[in-house]
Amino acid sequence: MNQIETAPELKEIVETGGHATGAQWLSRYSSSLLGVFGTPQRVLVRGAGCLVWDADGKEYLDLLGGIAVNALGHAHPFVTSVISSQLATLGHVSNFFTSPTQIALAEKLLDISKAPAGSKVFFANSGTEAVEAAFKLARRNSGVSHDSEAQPRTKIIALEGAFHGRTMGALALTAKEAYRAPFAPLPAGVVHIPFGDVDALRAAVDETTAAVFLEPIQGEAGVRPLPAGYLKAAREATSAAGALLILDEVQTGIGRTGKWLASGDAGIVPDAVTLAKGLGGGFPIGALITFGPETSSLLSAGQHGTTFGGNPVATAAALATLHVLENQQVLTHVREVGEHLRSGLAAIDGVTEVRGEGLLIGFDLDADIAPAVVTAGLDAGFIVNSPGPHTIRLAPPLILSTAQADRFLAALPALLQTAKDAQ
Ligand SMILES: *Cc1c(COP(=O)(O)O)cnc(C)c1O
Repeated sequence: MNQIETAPELKEIVETGGHATGAQWLSRYSSSLLGVFGTPQRVLVRGAGCLVWDADGKEYLDLLGGIAVNALGHAHPFVTSVISSQLATLGHVSNFFTSPTQIALAEKLLDISKAPAGSKVFFANSGTEAVEAAFKLARRNSGVSHDSEAQPRTKIIALEGAFHGRTMGALALTAKEAYRAPFAPLPAGVVHIPFGDVDALRAAVDETTAAVFLEPIQGEAGVRPLPAGYLKAAREATSAAGALLILDEVQTGIGRTGKWLASGDAGIVPDAVTLAKGLGGGFPIGALITFGPETSSLLSAGQHGTTFGGNPVATAAALATLHVLENQQVLTHVREVGEHLRSGLAAIDGVTEVRGEGLLIGFDLDADIAPAVVTAGLDAGFIVNSPGPHTIRLAPPLILSTAQADRFLAALPALLQTAKDAQ
C-alpha cells in the first residue's frame, strides 16, 4: 500500500488540495502566514506541464512558471521520478559528507558554463544565498593580501534597478529603496551606478573596487537587457582594476534565454556566476560558480557554509532538469517560441515595447494598467506578472508550446481592453 493511504487527511491535501474553497484557504492563510507577500492571488493545488489548477477547479496557462523556476513545467514525469528515486535512496547528508549527485552536478555546471580549469562550484538553496556567497567572495577580494601598501578594496558596484535578493548582503546590492530602507544599516560599501552606462562604470571601477555585480538582463526591473558591449566593457574595467566581475544569472541562467547562460555569447569569462531559479526545475537549489583557480581560492575551508546546500535530492533534481534540457533540444525550442511570442506581442495594439531573450520577456503597455492586466489574466485563465505599472513579464516553462503561446497572444487584446475598462 502506498504509505500516504494511511493518512487520508494528508493524502487529500497533497493530492487534491482538500475540500476547502480558495476563499476558505486564503482566510486560513491570513491567520497563519506572515504577511510579507500580501494576499496570494490564488490557491494552487495541482499542475501538469504548463497548466495549473486552483482550489476552485479553475485552470490556468502558467506564463510565469513560479517566476522563471518551473523550467520543465509542473510535475514533469522524469524530474519527479529522479527526485523520488534519490529521496528513497539518500535524502540528506550535510556537508560533513558529500554524495555522487552533488559532484556530478558541479562537474555538469562547470561544463555548461564553459568554465576554465580550476573553476569550482558552491551549492546553496536559493538565489539570495548564491548571491550572499558571491558577496562574501567579493569581500575576500580585499586587495590587502596582494599588496600591503594598497588601499583595501571595500567598494562593491551594482546597478540602478538591480535585484539580487532579500537577505542582508544581497539586499545591499538590490537597488530598490522600498526594499532597503526599512532594514538599514545594510552591509557597507555598495554603490549603485546608472544602468547600462559604460562611462559611469569606467568612472566608478577603481583600485578600491572589490567587485561589480551585474544581471545580464534585469528581470525584476521589467526585463531590461544590458546594452550590447556592456559586459565586455565591464570585463575590461574590472580586469584592469583587479576587481571581480560577478554575473547574477539567477533568473537568466539555465536555458531561460535559449542559452545555458545569458552571458554565454558576450565573449567574456566572468569571475563568478550565481544561479538558482530554474536550476532545480522547481526544487530549491542555488549555486555559485567561481571561475579559475585564483577566484576559486578566495574562500577557504571554514569561511562559508550551509547545512542543506548541495543536498542529494536538490542536486538530483538539477541533474534531471539539465538532462531533459540537453536531451530534448529544449534550448532551441526556447529561442524559437520566444521569438514567436515576441513578434506576436509587438504586433498587438497597446503594446509599446517588447524586450528580452528566449522565454524571459517583458513588454510595455501604453497605459499604467499592468496590475489590472494581471487580474484580467487570472480571470481569463492566464498567469502573468507585472514588475512595474505598465510592464508585463512572462517567464513561462521552457516547454511552452507554440499553440500555448498563440492562445495567450489571441487572448491579450481582450485582456488589455478589460484592464482599460476597469480603470
Ligand atoms: C530572484 C532573484 C534573486 C533572488 O533569488 P531568491 O531565490 O528569491 O532568493 C537574485 N537575483 C536575481 C537576478 C533574481 O532574479
